[in-house]
Amino acid sequence: MTVKCVLCAEEHDSRTCPNKRNPEFTPKCANCGGPHTASYRGCPNFPKIKKVSTEKTFASVLKERKQPSTTTMKPLNQGIQPPTTSNQQGRTG
Ligand SMILES: [Zn+2]
Ligand SMILES: [Zn+2]
Repeated sequence: MTVKCVLCAEEHDSRTCPNKRNPEFTPKCANCGGPHTASYRGCPNFPKIKKVSTEKTFASVLKERKQPSTTTMKPLNQGIQPPTTSNQQGRTG
């Protein structure tokens, strides 16, 4: 993995860039070669942060697994019903 200096587009870390000490140094963009740093947002080739959909989110998976038009929600009445009136039972007397 090569690191490119954002100042002069050379292959070194921008923190160790020798050109930083040069007051006459004109930065060279690693993206477009223009006279600005590679972190310059006005750069025409500035890498925009775009949402890459290589990793599916949980929501997108749900969208893809959408059922075809059989959306009849069954009521959950057939399950085991909890006792509704359990308040009266078990009184001590
Ligand atoms: Zn440099
Ligand atoms: Zn540029």
